[in-house]
Amino acid sequence: MQKEAPKIFKVDPKFKHELLKITGAEKIMLCFQCGTCTADCPVALRVNEFRPRQIVEDARLGLKETLFSGDTLWLCTGCYTCYERCPQDVKVTDMIAALRTLAVKEGYIHPSFRMLIDSMAKNGYIYEITDFENELRADMGLPAAPKVNLDEVSKIMKKTGLNKLTGITMEEG
Ligand code: SF4
Ligand code: SF4
Repeated sequence: MQKEAPKIFKVDPKFKHELLKITGAEKIMLCFQCGTCTADCPVALRVNEFRPRQIVEDARLGLKETLFSGDTLWLCTGCYTCYERCPQDVKVTDMIAALRTLAVKEGYIHPSFRMLIDSMAKNGYIYEITDFENELRADMGLPAAPKVNLDEVSKIMKKTGLNKLTGITMEEG
């Protein structure tokens, strides 16, 4: 049987220095790879490919393209369990957020997040609020979800450059 060719990873040696400048990612060099973050992560319990410990190591090694182009970076729910339990105070949740920020700046946005941004631009919410949601709210004694000022959303998206990054066309407001 023919052996599978080894995978070639593109390494960017400057990447960790870029990352170290971002708030939340300053402590990645303190990680001693104990794996506590992975052991306690609720996503890692269900998804084999998601390993916060590995994300820290890949970031330090400069495997930028591997991190940015895959799905794993976008699976974190931001529950902060790893953040609270890391013995080295690496702040893994914030580091993942910093990696996402860099990924977005370089044009890597996961399709699921693009859909959320698209909905924000169209509805002012991350999903469309229909009569169904408002009826559920009424059952719980809540008023209908307030209407969002889409002109304001459009202005924020233009000002932050989110529309250009995502390629989403904004209504002129
Ligand atoms: S818990 Fe902290 S020190 Fe341990 S592997 Fe995760 S980030 Fe590194
Ligand atoms: S914040 Fe993200 S990486 Fe950390 S435990 Fe929660 S889901 Fe896992």
